[in-house]
Amino acid sequence: MTLPREVRVVEVGPRDGLQNEAAALGVDEKVAFAQALLDAGLSVVEAGAFVSPKWVPQMAGSDEVLRRLRRPPGARLPVLVPNGKGFEAARAAGAREIAVFTAASETFNRKNINASIDESFARFDEFVPEARRDGMWVRGYVSTCFGCPYEGAVDPARVVEVARGLVEIGCDEVSIGDTIGVAVPTQVTDVLGRLQAEMPGAALAVHFHDTRGTALANVLAALQQGIAVVDSMKRRRESVESMAEPSVDDVFEKRPGKKASNQQGQALDHNRHFNR
Ligand SMILES: [Zn+2]
Repeated sequence: MTLPREVRVVEVGPRDGLQNEAAALGVDEKVAFAQALLDAGLSVVEAGAFVSPKWVPQMAGSDEVLRRLRRPPGARLPVLVPNGKGFEAARAAGAREIAVFTAASETFNRKNINASIDESFARFDEFVPEARRDGMWVRGYVSTCFGCPYEGAVDPARVVEVARGLVEIGCDEVSIGDTIGVAVPTQVTDVLGRLQAEMPGAALAVHFHDTRGTALANVLAALQQGIAVVDSMKRRRESVESMAEPSVDDVFEKRPGKKASNQQGQALDHNRHFNR
C-alpha cells in the first residue's frame, strides 16, 4: 500500500462552514476565524465567497475579510466566485486565488445555481481565462460526484467529463465532492481510478461529507489512490456541532428563512478528528 508522502489540507471552514451557520457573523469574527486557521499553519484557507448577500448573507463582507487577512508566505486564500460580477469584485479585493463550482448532476446544478452544467461552464468562460492571464490560481469543485439528492446514482463517466471540462478551462486543481455524504470507499476507488486513468496527471482533491460516518474511510481510500489534497472544514466552535450543516454547495439554493435540511448531512471536520 502506498500513501502520499505529504498531504495538503484545504481548509474550507470560513466559507463552507460559515455559510451554513444560521446567524451571519460580523467581519471581525470572520477575519479572526480565518486568521486563526492561517496562523495555525494551514496553507490553503478558503476565505469567503463573492456571491449575492441576498442569497448568502453569511458571506457578506468577503471583500473586507480578504483585505484584512494577513497572508503568511506561500499561503493561498481562494474565494468562491460564481460569475463575472463576482470575479470583478474578488479581483478588486485583491484575490489571488479563486474557486468555481459546478456539479456532475444536471438536476442538482439547476436546483443549486439555476443553471445547467453547460451554462455554468459558459459563465466560467467569462472570467476563468482572464483570471489565469492575471496569474491567479483557480480551483474547481465538482458537486455530487458520488450521488445526487434528486437523481440518485451519478455516472462516473459524467464526473470525468465535468472534471475534464474544469481542467480544460484552466482550473489548476479539481476537488471531487461527495455533496450528500453517500460515498463508500469502494466507490471512491472506482471514481478516482477512472479520473486518473482518463485524466492522467490532473491535480485532484477530495471533499467528503461525514453524513453516514464514511468520510474518514473515504479519505483513506483516496490517499491509497494517490490523492494528496484533502478538503477539511473546521467548525468555528464546538457548540455548533450538532447543528444541521447542509452540503458544500447547496447553500446557493437556500433562501433566507429556509431551514437547512438535515439529510444534506454534516461536513467532515477533519481537524477535529485529527486533533483527537
Ligand atoms: Zn463541504
